[in-house]
Amino acid sequence: MRTPIATSAPCPACQQPLRHLALEGHYAKSVAVDLCAGCHLVWFDAFESVRLSGLGWVQLLRAMVLQPSSRAVLPRSMSCVRCRDPLSAVRNQTRFGHTAALECRQGHGQLQTFTLLLAERGLLRQVLPSDRSALAQERRALQCLQCGAGSHTPEATQCAYCQSPLLMVDVPRLASALLVRHGDALQLPPGANPLAMACRGCGHPLDPTAQARCPRCDHAVVWSDWLSVRPLLDAVEPLLRAQQPRQAKPWGTRLQAQQGDHRATQLHRWLRHANLVSAQDEGAQRDLRDSLLDWRSWLRLAVLGVALWVFFR
Ligand SMILES: [Zn+2]
Ligand SMILES: [Zn+2]
Ligand SMILES: [Zn+2]
Ligand SMILES: [Zn+2]
Repeated sequence: MRTPIATSAPCPACQQPLRHLALEGHYAKSVAVDLCAGCHLVWFDAFESVRLSGLGWVQLLRAMVLQPSSRAVLPRSMSCVRCRDPLSAVRNQTRFGHTAALECRQGHGQLQTFTLLLAERGLLRQVLPSDRSALAQERRALQCLQCGAGSHTPEATQCAYCQSPLLMVDVPRLASALLVRHGDALQLPPGANPLAMACRGCGHPLDPTAQARCPRCDHAVVWSDWLSVRPLLDAVEPLLRAQQPRQAKPWGTRLQAQQGDHRATQLHRWLRHANLVSAQDEGAQRDLRDSLLDWRSWLRLAVLGVALWVFFR
């Protein structure tokens, strides 16, 4: 269990205090992150798995998108929020490709841009030519998700202001990631899809969890700014909050009830297998000490010991 960074710990880029958030992880585990919404930077402790549940992502996205980025160009050198040593650049290999982060050499944690944190989890994707033409039809500019800067040249793959890769939200992947809570995918209520979003080409309702293009007019779903994400967060959050934690499996409960009970121990299972403890004992409300102090069990064990000694001598 980590201890939260003192609230006064400054952002390594802008020196404003970092904001500490306890986000919901899978199976209702808490994931602690410290973030600077102005710089779109996230700090997380070493070995802390950033496996956020859908509600955790909603919390993080809200914290990040509520405040516009200060469009600050990140300093070339930044220090660890714990020990103030300079952070060194590392490349993380994920199944979605390489992403970069800054790491404390003493193992205190990693600093990552918000964009790369999401890209590392496959929630962002490359901008395709069809996305650029959809944006042109909508008379919108491709924005940098990291700093919010617009007006990039059509060929640009990197933001001219902050040098972040120009990526856009992978809408079906993000929508599906948001719909997982307590390790279970959310069951949408029957009837009209409460997450339906209007196609920006023709207004046809689209399912953001499955449709990256409109089946009616073939217009691509392009979210290259965080404002586009907010209606989805607003639609998903009440559904997630209404989802109750799933019932513990009966076996899990039984095993828990048996903790400290001799019948849950490997020795007892072995004795039972070797017929050294009777099935009657099994059902009886006796604990380990009674059973092991039972002279018949000891006698059976002793007989077995002698037999083994004779056999292997
Ligand atoms: Zn900052
Ligand atoms: Zn450090
Ligand atoms: Zn940028
Ligand atoms: Zn359409």
